[in-house]
Amino acid sequence: MNLECPLCNGMAQVRDRCPCCGHYLDDNGRIEDFFGPYAPYSEQDMGETSVDGFDLCVHLLACPECGYDLRKGTMKVAEEELVRFNNKLTQP
Ligand SMILES: [Zn+2]
Ligand SMILES: [Zn+2]
Repeated sequence: MNLECPLCNGMAQVRDRCPCCGHYLDDNGRIEDFFGPYAPYSEQDMGETSVDGFDLCVHLLACPECGYDLRKGTMKVAEEELVRFNNKLTQP
């Protein structure tokens, strides 16, 4: 079974808001891409890469207003689940 990240596949969009100013955060892409495949980064840079045995795709989210950034792990889902998952991604 192929696991895909809904954010990388454009099936879901970041709905998180900046904790500082409340602006919607931009998705700057996978943190692996941001640092480059061979860049040395620590686990702290990566944030959580798995939860309860599920792979997470860690994205770098940034606020276009104040420059605040954070890392968000998005659970990868099976390709056929992407559409359904899209409806559940919105978080409170
Ligand atoms: Zn991703
Ligand atoms: Zn902000």
